[in-house]
Amino acid sequence: MSEVYDLIGLGFGPANVAIGGALVERWEAEKAAPQPSSIRKALFIEKQDKFRWHPGMLLPDARMQISYLKDLATLRNPSSPITFLSYLHAHGRLLNFINRGCIIPTRKEFADYLGWVAQWVQDHGVEVKFGHEVVGLDEAADGLIDVRMRAISTGETIVLKAKDVVISPGGAPRLPDCVKPVFDHPSIIHSSTYMANIDGIIRRLREQGERPLTIGVIGAGQSAAEILLELRNRLGPVPSGSGRHQVKMILRKGALRPSDDSPFTNEIFDPEATAEWYETANSDVRKSRLLEYKSTNYSVVNPRTLDSVYDAVYDQKVDDGMAARPNGVQATCPRLTLLPYSHILSLNTAPFAPLSLVIQHSITRVVTEESFDAIVCATGYQRSGWVDLLKSSGLGQRFGLDSTAEAVQLMPSSSIPSSPLTSPPTLATSAVSSPTSSAGPSTPVMTGSTFLDADLQPRKMYISRNYRLVPIPANEESGKNVFQGRIYLQGVEEATHGLSDSLLSVLGVRAGEVVGDMFA
Ligand code: NAP
Repeated sequence: MSEVYDLIGLGFGPANVAIGGALVERWEAEKAAPQPSSIRKALFIEKQDKFRWHPGMLLPDARMQISYLKDLATLRNPSSPITFLSYLHAHGRLLNFINRGCIIPTRKEFADYLGWVAQWVQDHGVEVKFGHEVVGLDEAADGLIDVRMRAISTGETIVLKAKDVVISPGGAPRLPDCVKPVFDHPSIIHSSTYMANIDGIIRRLREQGERPLTIGVIGAGQSAAEILLELRNRLGPVPSGSGRHQVKMILRKGALRPSDDSPFTNEIFDPEATAEWYETANSDVRKSRLLEYKSTNYSVVNPRTLDSVYDAVYDQKVDDGMAARPNGVQATCPRLTLLPYSHILSLNTAPFAPLSLVIQHSITRVVTEESFDAIVCATGYQRSGWVDLLKSSGLGQRFGLDSTAEAVQLMPSSSIPSSPLTSPPTLATSAVSSPTSSAGPSTPVMTGSTFLDADLQPRKMYISRNYRLVPIPANEESGKNVFQGRIYLQGVEEATHGLSDSLLSVLGVRAGEVVGDMFA
């Protein structure tokens, strides 16, 4: 007999910590005005052995890109006990933070705030199983969801049962194609694990003798720019023999571009914008808006960081000018080089040889080869882990996803076609249009015609405004329990809910919407 939970959350990063916070708030409110509560027993399952927020990118002095007011609760409930202000107050730093005169916290402080909320959530009755990962989701015989989790340290698998599941997978490293087959090379890392690995890489390279090192950073986003500057500082005191260490940024574009966080543009991250985005029926319009606002977030660098990179490169020019004079002295600090319009063709990793990137200039078409002692891929994140999990699990079919699906396109539930079935459905379970899940009254019900989409690529899956996947209707076998499980997704709905979906800006409000839907 598996233990039954009302809610199991996959992952315990900021999105699910926010859900936990909204849930506890709801419990507290119900103490004052008791009402029948549907979510009592909640568990989150987290791969890491304790709460940590992007430890690989906790670079010294790195700052957040948003106001502290966009914490896990303020926009939903400014009097919540888990606001950033409550955190400051609890730590005796409220006045110091005010005196500091800046609404942007450091990443270190915000990570500490998130950890404080994570602990608060646990202290108020939410269970968290650290050091475990979910490896499968299946439909249980009683109509609930079997959640298979594996202990990272022992490999032991345990099955728990849930009524509701919320999947908050976060981002996984996105890598250039030529890097994927050799990503286990000890001198190739992704920015997400930079802080955990860079010390060891430099130590190992130094063991080979004192010499100038060359490190490549692929990418032109915020991670790449921060790592470029960090490597310059880090390599500064490392003895380099007769030459200078080098850090080279390999970027596909012509230049580093600033992120747009001007006030009118910023309104795209307002909760109201989520509603507007979701209600835009035309998916091409939604796609073109994603492109229009891409420069708020992706492949861009905060203007302050961008200025620091330019200042460092300019300072090199000053040094070079001084060194070129008679009796001039060469600077010794690491040299930064930006390689724009660089399209990576291949990566060669022969044993005992430096890493060799073959690069084509996308304007001149000239092909060159660059050697590196180590490479950091600051190439961003992909968010398709949830698709793989559902595809490999028995449960995927309940939502129109089978193991043959190549890709998934999330659609608002308002896009579910309502025309009558015009040709035979392709999935055995798709013939009727009666509601079969425990989805609340506001959940749209798919008609058979929806499954005309099932043969097309990418596979369409439908999601409600409150982030709940819409199940396909099914003919339940007689005597079998009706499927009641509900699956919520967090942070992967840019296509339906807009650009803020993978960001912190909407977490507080979104958590309230999801928890509200669970209780509805
Ligand atoms: P990103 O913004 O997605 O940038 C990825 C970069 O990698 C882009 O320049 C992209 O090039 C390049 N790239 C991707 N695939 C490539 C390939 N196959 N070959 C060559 N280049 C490739 O990722 P990020 O910089 O990690 O930022 C992700 C998010 O984290 C953003 O929201 C950012 O604001 C946030 N972040 C925040 C902080 C902070 O708060 N201090 C620090 C770091 C990151 P193209 O431009 O050509 O596509």
